[in-house]
Amino acid sequence: MRIAIEAGTLLDGTAAPPRSNVSLLIENGRIARIGDAAPGEPTDRRYRAACVVPGLINAHVHLEANGEPNTTTLFVLKTPLERTLDAVRNARLSLEAGVTTVRDLGGAEANAIALRDAIARGDHAGPAIVAAGRALCMTGGHGYFIGRETDGPWDARKGVREQRKAGADCIKLIATGGVLTKGAVPGLDQLTEEEMRAAIVEARTHGMRVAAHAIGTNGIKNALRAGVDSIEHGHLLDDEAIELFKERGAYLVPTIAAVSCIYENASSGSQPDYVIRKATELYEKMRENVTRAWRAGVTIAGGSDAGTPYNFHQNYAYEVELMATVLGMTPQQALTAATSTSGALLGVEAGTLVEGAPADLLLLRADAARDARALRDPAVVIKGGAVAFERV
Ligand SMILES: [Zn+2]
Repeated sequence: MRIAIEAGTLLDGTAAPPRSNVSLLIENGRIARIGDAAPGEPTDRRYRAACVVPGLINAHVHLEANGEPNTTTLFVLKTPLERTLDAVRNARLSLEAGVTTVRDLGGAEANAIALRDAIARGDHAGPAIVAAGRALCMTGGHGYFIGRETDGPWDARKGVREQRKAGADCIKLIATGGVLTKGAVPGLDQLTEEEMRAAIVEARTHGMRVAAHAIGTNGIKNALRAGVDSIEHGHLLDDEAIELFKERGAYLVPTIAAVSCIYENASSGSQPDYVIRKATELYEKMRENVTRAWRAGVTIAGGSDAGTPYNFHQNYAYEVELMATVLGMTPQQALTAATSTSGALLGVEAGTLVEGAPADLLLLRADAARDARALRDPAVVIKGGAVAFERV
């Protein structure tokens, strides 16, 4: 399949200045050429777009969850089969919304792992998936109802081995309490630094990267000292944590949409009181602290925690918009966080539009360098060099 595209503006997913009136040629799943003149060769399809950007990479999703208002009851009320079917649907909706790669950071079953392989085979439509399997949490810790309860360094290593055996690509650790689990206090430590260090040593042995859910100040620092690749949320970080991020080269995935969607839907009457209370307590601090981290030079990667209350898989563009409006990123910087930076965090080749790169890209109706809202509802989604979705 050869596809030719004429782009009014090309944003390649990096900080490079936008290019005007560019033509792209896609061949054999990759970007064969980026040039000034429209390619004259015969092609299977030809497109014209106001703006072309890389396919979005969402570094933090939960494919089994749909954005239901009560996460805990969702896992009680839905059968494993229903959750599998939901994961298949959420993968398709993600792709149609321009998300061509996701990292699934935890589910009750190995749905994301099996779905990853089914999508790679071409059996289902969806993004490329990097999957963590089940998150490792302390006994009774945040997300225990879908996690692998883990106590002590050797058990942490065993937990990693189990996820690897199940087919996971990466590991998720729970360093502090969280918003959605009743009784879990976001500010308090959960897995110890020693437990996380053991898990990370084991993961590294197998070439797996490690993400830590961490909201509380001390837990963020425990996870960074233990050597994680990314802190998920990080909402109560302080200056010492900022220094640790920079010293260790760790990424921050701020998941601004997760807290914002709970907060913005507080009056819906469907969310548990403790969830609304915790999100409300975090809301302002999150905006302040994450902005401080960005201004201080911490590397921010895009990830929305899609699947959490009202935070739908097809709305990843909202997280990109929030990175621009809350953190003060330019629209192009927010796009970079959600493409090349999140791609680098995941260790995938996608995320940058250069010759030879995988042809995962979006055709937009407006210039995403001017307004991040241009990323909503892309006109055409191309994944792996094939047209995955066209919006009429
Ligand atoms: Zn999450």
